[in-house]
Amino acid sequence: MTLPVPTPDAVHDLVCSARGCREEATWGLLWNNPKLHTAQRRKVWLACDGHRAQLEEFLGTRSFLRDTVPATDLPTTDLPETEQPAADG
Ligand SMILES: [Zn+2]
Repeated sequence: MTLPVPTPDAVHDLVCSARGCREEATWGLLWNNPKLHTAQRRKVWLACDGHRAQLEEFLGTRSFLRDTVPATDLPTTDLPETEQPAADG
């Protein structure tokens, strides 16, 4: 019997989560709020190099931060580009 492995939420665009920042995210901050999320849930905040420490501190002071991983290690959603609306009907 094995415990479920925590799974980060999939991300789509690797853009920093800091307010007003549009830098490419290089880090994924994995966090969990035990009051809201199951133990295996990992919410993901994306951070550029400049905002990583700030966002880590924000989550750390609330004891939500679980891990920081390179953004390239995060699962990504592969949403289809829907430039052409399907005309079925
Ligand atoms: Zn940033």
